[in-house]
Amino acid sequence: MYEIQHRIAGEAFTDPDGRTGPVFNPATGEQAGTVALAADATVDAAVASAKAAAPTWAATSLSRRTKLLFAFRNLVEKHTDDIAKVLTAEHGKTLDDSRGEIARGIENIEYATAITEHMKGEMSHDVSTGIDVHTIRRPLGVVAGITPFNFPAMVPLWMLPNAVATGNAFILKPSERDPSAGMLLAELFDEAGFPPGVLNVVNGDKVAVDRLLNHPDVDGISFVGSTPVAKYIHRTAIENGKRVQALGGAKNHMIVLPDADIDLAADAAVSAGYGSAGERCMAISVVVAVGSAADPLVDAIATRIPKIAVGPGDEPGTEMGPLITEQHRDRVAGYVEAGEEAGAEVVADGRDLVERPGYFMGPTLLDRVTPSMTVYQDEIFGPVLSVVRVDTYPEAMEILNSNPYANGTAIFTRDGGAARRFESEAQVGMVGINVPVPVPVGSHSFGGWKNSLFGDTHMYGPEGIRFYTRAKAVTTRWPDPADSAVDLGFPRNV
Ligand code: NAD
Repeated sequence: MYEIQHRIAGEAFTDPDGRTGPVFNPATGEQAGTVALAADATVDAAVASAKAAAPTWAATSLSRRTKLLFAFRNLVEKHTDDIAKVLTAEHGKTLDDSRGEIARGIENIEYATAITEHMKGEMSHDVSTGIDVHTIRRPLGVVAGITPFNFPAMVPLWMLPNAVATGNAFILKPSERDPSAGMLLAELFDEAGFPPGVLNVVNGDKVAVDRLLNHPDVDGISFVGSTPVAKYIHRTAIENGKRVQALGGAKNHMIVLPDADIDLAADAAVSAGYGSAGERCMAISVVVAVGSAADPLVDAIATRIPKIAVGPGDEPGTEMGPLITEQHRDRVAGYVEAGEEAGAEVVADGRDLVERPGYFMGPTLLDRVTPSMTVYQDEIFGPVLSVVRVDTYPEAMEILNSNPYANGTAIFTRDGGAARRFESEAQVGMVGINVPVPVPVGSHSFGGWKNSLFGDTHMYGPEGIRFYTRAKAVTTRWPDPADSAVDLGFPRNV
């Protein structure tokens, strides 16, 4: 049984309190290790380390930062298989999926390597006689990232590269359910040559999060997780005067119009609904089938489901792994039961896998779901696809835009005009046109609307750079001493 502690100022740090939580292998249901749950003193040590490192790091040249980011990028790529192995062991997703999330994380390091471009300020010469104004961007200081279980490598990499590239010191608080990938990334970060304290990792639960939220020396908080916790993080950080971005849960709809290529749409619904066992914030969980699309689409999805290979993520050939915990698996199965009781038709039932060791549940398809059912309303975060049938496009849009979540959505159609209209009318942060999981690349920021994001800035990309910096306007005058005079009026530009 392995034991995971913390990493502060480039060194392993043992928690003084000795409080720990279990880390399971979801494919077997057996406990594989323990993770330290940080005491306040541990968080304080991490913040002190970051605070000590921040001024020198902020004064480090952009070219030096770029070199270190390149070294980090190359190490992460080189060790992709090592990270994927621990990630799959603790999360359960397939090895291929783990490699995929690491690749998407690397995109964000690559974006940050262009920091000399991103940090360019603005300059206006001669705004008034003999006066110039320029705007520069400065780091916040110490920033923390609190991350969810479902992307233990990618989500930390949504935050860390831009945070440090802009000159901040960073504290990562990974999910306590699968902390090893974050620890491995931190070791590679230190190996790349970043000064000690620029990254610190504190493992833990609500105690650690609350200490970060209330610590006077933490200047900014990036959060990704469920909506109730995101709301709490946003509110508390604001009350404490911190800059905050808090991404929450999702309920992503895929609209299929009657003219869509049904095979393409069915492949997309299956991939986006059951990939990573539905534990993706951009997973499709509701298919809104318009008019005559419904019957052939349900049939096409149903014929694909028995071919999905469910098993341990590290077994060759596995396409879908287990869910994260037993409790979560039972909760997901409970939603299927509730949907059935409320009148939904169970076309494919994944509950028959529940008896097997590990936290497995098979792909499940519910037809004739209505917006009044809990299976429609709540974020399920499991391999359950609900089909809602409607007659017209406006009805589909009414359902989509009435949903309180607004992370991602997709439309499947051959009609460019309908797709273009959808792009404007969907009240959702990320939209796919014949693309079921429209996660933007590293150069475009990621974020939902409504209950899927609290705060003003999306994550990574250009908005990430803005989030981790403050603008400063500098007005400069190099006067001729002969022109000096007292003037009590408000400065006027002449
Ligand atoms: P979670 O909210 O339970 O946990 C996220 C983080 O918050 C963890 O680090 C956890 O330790 C901490 N935490 C949990 N409860 C807390 C509390 N009461 N007070 C303070 N901190 C607390 O989320 P999860 O189960 O790890 O992840 C799944 C959720 O994350 C889903 O809702 C999913 O949609 C969402 N998610 C959203 C996005 C997005 O981009 N919008 C991306 C990935 C995951």
